[in-house]
Amino acid sequence: MSWTLEIHHIGVIDGDATLILAKEFDDNNNGKFLGSRALLIDGGERKRATKVYKYLQDQGINKLDVMVATHYDEDHYGGLVKMMENDGRGIFNTTMIFDQGAPPSNHFNFYKDSSMVIDPNRTSDVNTTFEKYISAIKQISDKSNTTISRITTKVNSFDIVRYDKNNKDKPTIPTVQNYVSPHWLIGQEILWGSDSNTENYASNIPQGAPTVHCIAANKWVQTGNANGNAIVSFMTTNNIYDGNKRDDDWYIAYRENTEKQGKNQKSLGFIVQFGNFRYYVAGDLMTTQEDALYPYLNPNNNRAGRVTVVKPSHHGSNESTSNAFLTRLRPSTAIFSTGKKYKSHPASRIIGQLQASNLVSNYYLTYLNPNRASTPLALLTNNSATKAIVSGDWGGRWNDSPKEAKPPEKSDVYITVTDADSRVSSDSDNPKFSVHYWNASFPRYSYYPEQSSGSTEYHFLQRTNRHS
Ligand SMILES: [Zn+2]
Repeated sequence: MSWTLEIHHIGVIDGDATLILAKEFDDNNNGKFLGSRALLIDGGERKRATKVYKYLQDQGINKLDVMVATHYDEDHYGGLVKMMENDGRGIFNTTMIFDQGAPPSNHFNFYKDSSMVIDPNRTSDVNTTFEKYISAIKQISDKSNTTISRITTKVNSFDIVRYDKNNKDKPTIPTVQNYVSPHWLIGQEILWGSDSNTENYASNIPQGAPTVHCIAANKWVQTGNANGNAIVSFMTTNNIYDGNKRDDDWYIAYRENTEKQGKNQKSLGFIVQFGNFRYYVAGDLMTTQEDALYPYLNPNNNRAGRVTVVKPSHHGSNESTSNAFLTRLRPSTAIFSTGKKYKSHPASRIIGQLQASNLVSNYYLTYLNPNRASTPLALLTNNSATKAIVSGDWGGRWNDSPKEAKPPEKSDVYITVTDADSRVSSDSDNPKFSVHYWNASFPRYSYYPEQSSGSTEYHFLQRTNRHS
């Protein structure tokens, strides 16, 4: 048997939708395709569900084995909810679902141990998408012959921890009856899970198969201490100390869950590994958490410890993917799932860093907002910016009048790593894998309105860049 890993960044314009396929082949039977294990991490906005669902169908996926909602933000799990609601093919009937876990019953009473109870049905302080998410899962599980299960149902996602002001590096987590800790998922392998509940969850990994391990959850991250040992640490931007004065518990609890960026910081993060090939994906995780991850991901800070391909978190926001993080991970390629709404995605700083890097051979974008003239666009349209590739060939083509430009249907970017690719040393000058994207088959300028009178047809050809 041999394996091939595919990582598909589905073009959802805003948000993320990343499909991971582990495909198995029979070497003794002319490499016959035996089947695949499928994991979908996020599903874009609700309005992109049709695209994502069709994409899964086009990949021949009749059942989705595993699904992840990295965090409860519409552009990451809105599409998942709608796909489950309208699943005409039953692809979710046996899906194992991972997310941050259950919200707490009451922020303000959280520190009163006697009332420290989580009500899984309580949704009054979470948005309506979350209610729909829970009911869509229930709707499928209520049907006969379905085994859909939300593995993280019993995880306490409420991230507040108890601090001793005399020993502030050692936060403790209040025990919540019948619930496991917010960092329960960290260290778990999720692609090959076989048990259907939190308590008994286990993973049975076939020999030689790609794996997906959780490295970040609910502001807890896998990191390394001064001795190089792996530890799990709580990382937050909240100022929980003010000199000797510590805020009241209820106020810390309140801020941990309502601060502007709190949701992003709680994103689930994963490392995908296939032989010597490694890939990083972490929703909208932010610099505070990511910078604690890199001592774990590349402990000796050398090329052999590189993470081959990185998906910059938060669509390339400046509040993720620090220069130190990129420098330490030493990716050969970066793939952005970029947005249309937000002018700051991807950030100039990150683009500049990738342009300047002598390790990064190319970086790819699923989309680039045509209606903005910020630095990344200028960088990408600069002739020297030879590393940037926008799938669909829309990148930097609209300097004049882009108003009519509609986002391309085909704007996906996916990676293929063969069994032979996975055996190339990570310390090699040229790690091997292929990146596939869409490119227009006609002169790019026919996009422009003045040349599109009559019937301009858009044809997209699939192109492949072999990284080797
Ligand atoms: Zn996002």
